[in-house]
Amino acid sequence: MLIIVALCLIGTRYWKEAREWEERKIWNTIANLAVIDAQKSRSIDNWWIKTSNLSANIETKQLFEKKKNEVLSIIHNYRGVSAETEKISERFREFRLAVFVNGQSRYLLENGITPPLGTNGVDICFLSEEDARKLLFYSIAWRPDWNTVIIPAVSYPEKLLVSLLFHELGHAFRHNKNDAGGIVPDIDKEALAREEVEMHELSGEILNNLSNESYFRRIDQILARLPKERRFERVIASVTTEDSVAFYEIFGCAGTETPAKMVMSNTIRMIGFRHAERHELGIEGKIKVFREIERHLALPEK
Ligand SMILES: [Zn+2]
Repeated sequence: MLIIVALCLIGTRYWKEAREWEERKIWNTIANLAVIDAQKSRSIDNWWIKTSNLSANIETKQLFEKKKNEVLSIIHNYRGVSAETEKISERFREFRLAVFVNGQSRYLLENGITPPLGTNGVDICFLSEEDARKLLFYSIAWRPDWNTVIIPAVSYPEKLLVSLLFHELGHAFRHNKNDAGGIVPDIDKEALAREEVEMHELSGEILNNLSNESYFRRIDQILARLPKERRFERVIASVTTEDSVAFYEIFGCAGTETPAKMVMSNTIRMIGFRHAERHELGIEGKIKVFREIERHLALPEK
């Protein structure tokens, strides 16, 4: 009797360890897709601000204005992609321009005069290569306590930039209801996770729309290889190098580091969401995908 109990205990422990090992292996594989180690060594990003130690001259000011105008043009030119982009573009027609210096957002001012507030008081703040590397922060992000969209000063291929900007401005649209740029109300974790799912789906819809639907076609090819697999992690971990390269090529990210990482970061989530749809797991299934990815990978994108 004692021997049987002991064997059962050993068996349970062995099974538990084998399962944990498999979990680790799956998430390591997914983490590698997100950080794309192989790509990194031969990739080149074009940073248009190298350091935040900027000389305050007319050229600097003009460069920043030019970059802000590129952001505004994108929001305007791509407003028709979906009903959501239409609303976002309607709301954000101007921004106050800022730059990230010593951990703070600083305005580019002339004669110390604060320029008029942009629409809803939302700022865009560009982040230099030096600061991005110091902070290990490479994604475009909405920072609610600053009412600011932080944009690393790296050149993104246009279609990718469209999806990233609308994602973050989608957050800004939902949280920045106060025209004076007032306090951001607290929202619970459940609502935040739901919002992230919606924003990643908006990014996915934009990427799909701007790629003549080849984005979802490629994702669905990956899903079709394991049609009966219930666990989304296993499906994501089945992504091959050829799949990754196909995604980079669709969006002009081959040979880049930051843009390629951003494409894969969204793609990993979209595979999970479309897997949840196929298995009729509803929004709850998608929230689970989002949370599991955050928990295991803690990717910088928010
Ligand atoms: Zn987000």
